Amino acid sequence: MPSILAHAPGFLRDPGGKNHGPRAVGGDVNDMREVEVVVIGAGQAGLSSAHHLRRAGLEPGRDFVVLDRSPGPGGAWQFRWPSLTYGKVHGMHALPGMELTDADPARPSAEVISAYFDRYERAFDLRVRRPVEVRAVREGTGGRLLVETSDGAWSTRALINATGTWDRPFWPRYPGQETFLGRQLHTAQYPGPEAFAGRRVVVVGGGASGTQHLLEIAPYAASTTWVTRRPPVFREGPFDEEAGRAAVALVEERVRRGLPPRSVVSVTGLPLNDAVRRGLADGVLDRRPMFDRVTPDGVEWDRGSPLLERGREPGGGGRVAADVILWATGFRPAVGHLAPLRLREPGGGIRVEGTRAVADPRVHLVGYGPSASTVGANRAGRAAVRDIGRLPERAAA
Ligand SMILES: Cc1cc2nc3c(=O)[nH]c(=O)nc-3n(C[C@H](O)[C@H](O)[C@H](O)COP(=O)(O)OP(=O)(O)OC[C@H]3O[C@@H](n4cnc5c(N)ncnc54)[C@H](O)[C@@H]3O)c2cc1C
Repeated sequence: MPSILAHAPGFLRDPGGKNHGPRAVGGDVNDMREVEVVVIGAGQAGLSSAHHLRRAGLEPGRDFVVLDRSPGPGGAWQFRWPSLTYGKVHGMHALPGMELTDADPARPSAEVISAYFDRYERAFDLRVRRPVEVRAVREGTGGRLLVETSDGAWSTRALINATGTWDRPFWPRYPGQETFLGRQLHTAQYPGPEAFAGRRVVVVGGGASGTQHLLEIAPYAASTTWVTRRPPVFREGPFDEEAGRAAVALVEERVRRGLPPRSVVSVTGLPLNDAVRRGLADGVLDRRPMFDRVTPDGVEWDRGSPLLERGREPGGGGRVAADVILWATGFRPAVGHLAPLRLREPGGGIRVEGTRAVADPRVHLVGYGPSASTVGANRAGRAAVRDIGRLPERAAA
């Protein structure tokens, strides 16, 4: 039987001593099904978790189920803009147990990665159920969790939440934003550079998406302006394993204290590659401080702002006219469905030890905070499964 039983003797042992799989409770199979583990999300983190559950001997569909609200395989990658080619993504790690080989760097990463995830799900027979949206997770009966979805309810002993951030784009609020007569959009809606032809575009945000948008849009747009809250920090040299570990440790420390995780770029810095160097040299990446307000036809800085002091806008004062404001302001963890479990700390984040929510040991967050990268998601999936294997003992204690 399952190899994990050697490491985690509690796995698959329910309080009644039966291993019954997805049993219908209350008659109608669509009303309530029972499993050992529900995985929410089939991105890198969810698929890694499913892979390790399977390796532990759990049967997909019977002992665990993966629920995903997206229409097809690929996690958030399936929604990324066509100009984000596979060659442009940095440090994409393969899923455990199957390499991504011979991918054409000129193809959109949305296509390459969705096709790869599709192959992966089939190869390991993970039987992802989609589109199934998890609407709420709450306390169930008998120490179980109740997972309410667009396709009925599930009762589970443990939960692996792997919902990523793509579904929660973060829009900061600035005065006058609602008066803007042009178009405002977020990275999550970025259609590619051609849509900005002839437009005056303000890009907000100092992350990798912001710089990539600017470098792509500049050749098409009438003008681009880059504004960020803090001066961007460019990182010289390779992002080696040691730098990666240091970045992860910083986010980990915040999450352990119950604070919301910071963006990856805030701890890694922006990679100084050739395209970025060119952008810095030709002024496309000439960053300005955050504006004070949005006006119907652009953005405005107050008197005394660094922009005015630098005298950068002759005759225009502290204003830049714009047709489009592109908010490349990041994402937040998509964990609203966990609200009934009251996992949040006063600091606004969910405290986790490893992957386990401190407030509820049945709940694991993978791809969250320090594990919000493809390599982190891989490791978190494995760690969560290992930890869940010990859950029944802990729950019974
Ligand atoms: C533009 C961009 C580029 C990136 N590039 C890189 C890179 O090059 N290298 C790298 O390592 N990382 C990169 N990252 C980060 C990387 O995408 C993630 O760390 C990793 O792929 C996220 O995997 P995930 O499984 O956590 O989330 P996702 O891929 O977002 O998957 C989450 C899944 O959960 C589903 N879901 C969400 N809510 C629910 C719900 N309530 N019910 C059911 N299903 C739900 C979603 O539909 C989705 O399919 C990038 C991120 C962005 C935004």
